[in-house]
Amino acid sequence: MLDAFRTEPYSDFERVEAKVGYELGLAGVGSQLGGHAPVVIDGREVATSSASESINPAQPDQIVGTAAVADADLADRAMDAAWGAYPQWSSLPAEERAEIAHRIGDLMAARKYELAAWQTYEAGKNWTEAEADVAEAIDFCRYYAHQAVTMAEPLAIHGYPGETNESRLQAVGAGAVISPWNFPLAILVGMTVGPVAAGNTVVVKPASNTPMIGWGFIQIAAEAGVPPGVINYLPGPGPVIGDRLVDNPRTRFVNFTGSKEVGLEIARRAAVVQPGQRWLKRVYVEMGGKDALIVDETADLEQAADDVVRSAYGFQGQKCSACSRLIAVSEIYDDLLDLVIERTAALTTGPPVENHPVGPVISAAQHRSVAAEIDSGRSEADLVLGGGSVDRDGGYYLEPTIFAGVTPNARLAQHEIFGPVLSVIRAADFDDAVAIANSTEFGLTGGLHSSSRERIDRAKRDFHVGNLYINRKITGALVGVQPFGGFNMSGSNAKAGGPDYLRLFMEMKSVTERL
Ligand code: NAD
Repeated sequence: MLDAFRTEPYSDFERVEAKVGYELGLAGVGSQLGGHAPVVIDGREVATSSASESINPAQPDQIVGTAAVADADLADRAMDAAWGAYPQWSSLPAEERAEIAHRIGDLMAARKYELAAWQTYEAGKNWTEAEADVAEAIDFCRYYAHQAVTMAEPLAIHGYPGETNESRLQAVGAGAVISPWNFPLAILVGMTVGPVAAGNTVVVKPASNTPMIGWGFIQIAAEAGVPPGVINYLPGPGPVIGDRLVDNPRTRFVNFTGSKEVGLEIARRAAVVQPGQRWLKRVYVEMGGKDALIVDETADLEQAADDVVRSAYGFQGQKCSACSRLIAVSEIYDDLLDLVIERTAALTTGPPVENHPVGPVISAAQHRSVAAEIDSGRSEADLVLGGGSVDRDGGYYLEPTIFAGVTPNARLAQHEIFGPVLSVIRAADFDDAVAIANSTEFGLTGGLHSSSRERIDRAKRDFHVGNLYINRKITGALVGVQPFGGFNMSGSNAKAGGPDYLRLFMEMKSVTERL
């Protein structure tokens, strides 16, 4: 019998126990740096001829660990191992799989600060962001455990004279999980444990920047009782292994979260039927965003400014849900901009181990990419804050940056930058603001700050995003509370943490018996 689901609470790091707990986590992980994240196939570590270094983005000369570099042959072997484990795993009673999934969450909860500290070192997350990521991972395990039991119930269908009829859901098979670095535990765990709790088996390819965090999960999953072969681990270069996993005719599904460019390429490749392939691959690609927060003249501007800044700069703006466009109606545009600049300027930038509000971006490549966007933005709009790098320990720091006077079709307003950069757009009125908000190819998160009931209701209807937030920040969706996933080019709307998620990895069998 599983405990009732409730979301994992967050710590208050003003409290001494929480602060000391996190410091102990940092110290413990600090003494383990330099370990190795191996390939794991069928429960066994597999040696590879080369390894890559995973570094601390706040201090690139610090090696967090090394990771095996798998190749295409290992990708095939891992998929074979997943199929090898499938018959037994899928035929277990759902309650048994659910208990194991729940146990993974419980084990992670018992080691919350340690797992968060890994993210502080390897992903550059401050304490609050890292803990929230671990809490989400825990929630995914527990929530999907419950969903697995629910999904095992026979479906409600009508009776028919002279027959018994029954319809049930069953797992689809072995699939590939390809995850991003920005929620290196939560998204990897959610995309893995969902299908696995439903009875599937997987090959997990972590993001190249965060292999140690994924390795921590793999070890916990084994400790929780996940049998060999059910979750195989395959660190290595995305284009090589990812392509092979997607192309493999035995791959039954691909569960991807990452950039639009890679997501579209996966969708294209997976649509090609390979020799020997016996099914249509199921493909879920959750991709980027250009998320907008609208503030109208009836809003509480102080509250709105707080929420804009939290949504724009949490984890350096490297969230698919981050506020990258602030759309302010003309009447309050100047006042709101002043408040946002003032609050942003007050954010300190520094090492995640010291828990600064703003830390480094993930990598040298990301730093170059965001800096280039800032440079090109200078010719499009007014740079009113930031724009430069912060020189500290060689870390990949960028100042929190604000562009004002951005026009709705500018690159700054259309293209996902994925860094600490906010574009502020002036709208004539509320209707204009909604039209601007809907004018990108994306549709992930959005927000409205307003005290007008009528406008809130219109936003609910007309603001075309998968996750809409009224009078609060637009990041931080909770598992089981705010199922998460976008519209349009933001992806397949898989709705992670929602009641239908496991259904995506299941198929329905209807059985009729004549009486
Ligand atoms: P990315 O697309 O570069 O990489 C994602 C994963 O794909 C990594 O594991 C990578 O190694 C792998 N990969 C790279 N090339 C591949 C290929 N050719 N074939 C198969 N796999 C390949 O994305 P990222 O930089 O890790 O993550 C940031 C992006 O993810 C942003 O665009 C962000 O908006 C998006 N994101 C979306 C959501 C969502 O729920 N919609 C959540 C988090 C992040």
